[in-house]
Amino acid sequence: MSEIRHDLMQEYKHFEFLVRIKADLLAKGIRVNQNVGKRKDFNRKQIHLYQHCATLHPIDIPEDLVLYSGSMLIPEIIMTKFRYNPDSDWQMDDENGYKLRNDRTGVEIPVEPTPQTGFDQHFIGELPLSSIVQKLGTDVAGVVLSNWCFYFQNNHECRFCEIFPTYQSQKTFNKAQKPIEQVVEGLKLAFQIDSHLKHVLITSGNMISYDHTVREYIKIGEGIKELKKKNINFQAILMPPENFLLMDEMRNVGFHRVCMNLEVFDPQLFEIITPGKAAYGYQRLFEALDYASKVFDIAYSSIVYGIQSLSPDLDVTKWDPAKENQKALAGVDGLLEKKIIPLFTVYHTSERNAIGLIRIDGEALFAFTSEYGQKVFSSGIIAESQNSISFDSTSPNDLINDGYSLAKYQKEIADLETFSMEDQKVIRK
Ligand code: SF4
Repeated sequence: MSEIRHDLMQEYKHFEFLVRIKADLLAKGIRVNQNVGKRKDFNRKQIHLYQHCATLHPIDIPEDLVLYSGSMLIPEIIMTKFRYNPDSDWQMDDENGYKLRNDRTGVEIPVEPTPQTGFDQHFIGELPLSSIVQKLGTDVAGVVLSNWCFYFQNNHECRFCEIFPTYQSQKTFNKAQKPIEQVVEGLKLAFQIDSHLKHVLITSGNMISYDHTVREYIKIGEGIKELKKKNINFQAILMPPENFLLMDEMRNVGFHRVCMNLEVFDPQLFEIITPGKAAYGYQRLFEALDYASKVFDIAYSSIVYGIQSLSPDLDVTKWDPAKENQKALAGVDGLLEKKIIPLFTVYHTSERNAIGLIRIDGEALFAFTSEYGQKVFSSGIIAESQNSISFDSTSPNDLINDGYSLAKYQKEIADLETFSMEDQKVIRK
């Protein structure tokens, strides 16, 4: 075996080991030693959409942790969301540097929290910037436009959703819906003070109507016209409008990508878990995604890993990781068949929803991630010029890009075998 291929394989094994750990961390969460809160040199966890655990963390904890910061051989980042869980095997500690230790297996790795943002020391009027814009990963400015969703009005909310109950118990902004002017000012200020930001991600509950929500997104697009001249990637997560032509308007004001989430692929379970979306229509969602893929060249839809295999009575005690992987991968296939890029989030709860706690299996999640990456990579839907599935290369709250990277480097290792030593050097450059 050539030296180049050997070195890449060694690095790949380390990379894969850390993706496996990330899957375990997203499944089980992390508890924290008191000494972690002392340094305060990290981006402190804010509530963005949901709280990740039923118990509130007693001290400041980091928002995201870097597990792998890239090497010459594999220039990728592995980053995980800090999902606090006081009962986890994993503990974060600070002993001459931050580390994560698993008490059951003895595994210990160094980690780096993402640095402070200063968003809580800058204000829009009386409000701290951190209550309007949250920094996600290393380069994303995230905004939750509305913590209210009209599905909650008639008990049609998605059964896993906690966006409004979380807001009710821990108000992070003085109103459930943020005024557009404050969002626009907040985004401008965030980009002014943080030169690492490259992406804007807007997400929201459904406001008065689907079309109204899209119009509010369009107003944000119009408001940050100046920012977009700086090559900022602008992405929206939302339900599609009734009037598909509004998607053209979104494109015209600068949105690059839209993600319209199916959440559950199986049509019967979709009816049960997402009654509001079911009223919009399963087929209609696909029609909207098809329209979006023409307007934006590509369309994304996310499913929630962990709830694809639930029985109709949503009894979590029957949950089985093998069945979950089978159903979730069927969803991935189904979306790819329709030329839609499947994304996934990993189910988590603070036990404010109708489903409750599911103990996700970290190993099964890793196995799903690997197969997911292979399926998307080999589908050819992602352009070769695009290095990852999601625009946000770090994707801390899921394993989308990690799975894709696993498939990409496996292919590269296999390909290297067929090239001469000289050619290998050229390829790896
Ligand atoms: S559409 Fe579903 S997941 Fe999204 S905010 Fe409304 S209830 Fe929650």
